[in-house]
Amino acid sequence: MLLELLHPLPVRIAATDDEAGLSFLFRTLCANGLSLRDGLHWLELKSWNCLRTHDAQTLAWITSAEPVWLSQRIVTVQRRKSPRALGFMGHVFGSGAADFSRSAKLCWQCIKRKKYHRVSWQLRCISCCTEHGAILSDRCPHCDQLIRWNRPAVDICSCGGFLTIASAIEPLSEHVTNWVNWIENRLLFPSGFMPAAHNGLPAFFDSLSIDGAFRVVVAVGLHAEADCAMAKSSALAATSRGMTHIVRRGIERLHCLGNNLADIYSLRTLVHLPILERMRVSGVSVADQNCASVLIDYLRGPSRPALDPRGLYVRGQLSLFP
Ligand SMILES: [Zn+2]
Ligand SMILES: [Zn+2]
Repeated sequence: MLLELLHPLPVRIAATDDEAGLSFLFRTLCANGLSLRDGLHWLELKSWNCLRTHDAQTLAWITSAEPVWLSQRIVTVQRRKSPRALGFMGHVFGSGAADFSRSAKLCWQCIKRKKYHRVSWQLRCISCCTEHGAILSDRCPHCDQLIRWNRPAVDICSCGGFLTIASAIEPLSEHVTNWVNWIENRLLFPSGFMPAAHNGLPAFFDSLSIDGAFRVVVAVGLHAEADCAMAKSSALAATSRGMTHIVRRGIERLHCLGNNLADIYSLRTLVHLPILERMRVSGVSVADQNCASVLIDYLRGPSRPALDPRGLYVRGQLSLFP
């Protein structure tokens, strides 16, 4: 960015604590007669996805936002070389976990009432709004195209249709509601979030990063049945409705195991092992990597010893699964 060509925008807008940074930038640019695409051009950015920390500082200056508030609420690159790591709301995520800069998803009722995107909608692991019991819309109800960030206004699609009309109603399962509440609580209150067990979720989730818990849930819930084609499961994972089903199945299946995760062996034909294998190598925390390692061991079979030759538990088991 050429700083000498930049200046604070004349029209300032107020932000709300649970608003996504990209939503705030979108609304501020709109209020100043600019689109997100105009903003990219003016700021000489390649994309709104995965900004650098110093980009966040400049964006805070031109929008008159509080710098820490804004830099936490936009997706920034923490590690550029493989495996890439992204920063968001003070948490670290793997590549792809928070990639919603081109298409957006939203709750039509929240958009109608509040006129902004909630910060949690930026994450792939969030697929519904618990306040309104609605699956997030990812396609426009008028033109059926993906909802783009680059559109005329927060509540208007690129086709000109209002996004504030009801999407298909589908009751949310308690597991999905619990999952979304736990993550939103953890995002907004990182030091005092409600434990997973209090939200009706497996207690070992608290040992993992949000990214790690999501990878485990998807690995266990991705396939509806044992012989499910990968293409079908992947297509499902790309939509909010599909992700809602994956999360429900994943948590339901993990619940069936109770406190004995060694029983995950009974789910071995359903679990998508490559997700856990990637997590073992590129999990964003040591606990995530250890968890993946232990689960893979369990999935390989009950004959595999749980104790090492000295009679000690293999790494990670005791601390992860108390
Ligand atoms: Zn809502
Ligand atoms: Zn449209």
